[in-house]
Amino acid sequence: MSDLERQDKILQEAREFADKEIRPHASRFDMEEILPRPLIDKMAERGFLAASLPSRYGGLELDQVNYGLFNEEIGKACNNTRGLITVHTSLVGETLVRWGTQEQKDYWLPRMAKGQTITAFGLTEPNIGTNARGVETAYRQDGNTFILNGRKKWISFGDIADMFLVVAANGNDITTFLVERSFPGVKTWPIKGLLGGRASHIAEIEFKDVHVPAENVLGKVGSGFTYVVSTALDNGRYSIAWAGVALAQAAVEAMVSYSRKRSQFGQKIYNFQLIQGIIGDAVTKTHAARALCVKAGELRRSNDQNSVIETTIAKYFTSKVAMEVAIDCVQVHGGNGCYNEYPAERYFREAKILEIIEGTSQVQQEMISRYGLRAYYRP
Ligand SMILES: Cc1cc2nc3c(=O)[nH]c(=O)nc-3n(C[C@H](O)[C@H](O)[C@H](O)COP(=O)(O)OP(=O)(O)OC[C@H]3O[C@@H](n4cnc5c(N)ncnc54)[C@H](O)[C@@H]3O)c2cc1C
Repeated sequence: MSDLERQDKILQEAREFADKEIRPHASRFDMEEILPRPLIDKMAERGFLAASLPSRYGGLELDQVNYGLFNEEIGKACNNTRGLITVHTSLVGETLVRWGTQEQKDYWLPRMAKGQTITAFGLTEPNIGTNARGVETAYRQDGNTFILNGRKKWISFGDIADMFLVVAANGNDITTFLVERSFPGVKTWPIKGLLGGRASHIAEIEFKDVHVPAENVLGKVGSGFTYVVSTALDNGRYSIAWAGVALAQAAVEAMVSYSRKRSQFGQKIYNFQLIQGIIGDAVTKTHAARALCVKAGELRRSNDQNSVIETTIAKYFTSKVAMEVAIDCVQVHGGNGCYNEYPAERYFREAKILEIIEGTSQVQQEMISRYGLRAYYRP
């Protein structure tokens, strides 16, 4: 079997798994605000928690395009389940592969692949969001130990994670730490009542005089933002870009299916040209969104330096498309679009979150505009 055939087979398995084990339960996960542990274990058994990670650590070694398509398959079935992959595999796993020492990789990655260690990414704080370099969680060094104090907020899977990739500051120096839940002084609280990501175990985390050994520093002391955080956000953004495609595709399928079943004025509603206009636009936008993600994935696969900006462009565009298509999906469903017996309202709620996480749309616009002003200046 060629490597391409091997990767296609994994995508096929992911599709079947999502259809059988995830999609039928996604609404319940959202209502109960829980991603059940048995589901996480089943995903781990199949290597789905390490889909893009090297096989030597238990990963499936999907290339970046196929890893994106994998995110779409899972995200189409359940945005919360995809969220676990974004955080655990992209933000933490891929970043560990890039910046971890051999000892850190040998220790953490196999445990993460097996689901023995669930991980979360802790950057945002009660007072610090977009201005991420201003983190107030503080560390000080005492010999071979770093002592952390502070709080993190909105941390996806923070309430169930065993290890957190934490961003902390000492004056202008920023360092990233692998903080274990078992360290004394770590405490988490679930955040309930969210618009979306309700089953993503989102939490607030407190670090009170947490002693972190030097071997749990990820990357170099003092240069955590430039290297580790930038890499992590780029990885996460790529996964979120595909999350937008996934939600848009799910919303397209829901609106098409509904329009072919629902009758008004003695005919199926898809016969109305205004409904056809909505569907035509939704399909076009979704295809365009996927094309941008594939382009970003191809650049990432070849380590092209433009991959970062193309990932940002893809994330900005697909989250916008997901929101627009989800709004139209609700519209095509009429009253039923506002009711949780149908998935449209969930897509609508989840899509909004994508315009906020991993850098808000405004920040993406700024980054893309800075690139455009440089790249397209013709003096
Ligand atoms: C469901 C969910 C899951 C999350 N998961 C995680 C996680 O796992 N880990 C983690 O670390 N964080 C997580 N976050 C936090 C998320 O990354 C932040 O909410 C996001 O970065 C925005 O920060 P903020 O909420 O503080 O908004 P602010 O930074 O306070 O922004 C408020 C508004 O001001 C705008 N704004 C701010 N600065 C500028 C500027 N310079 N120019 C123009 N406009 C600006 C923003 O675009 C936004 O519209 C999550 C959030 C949610 C809702």
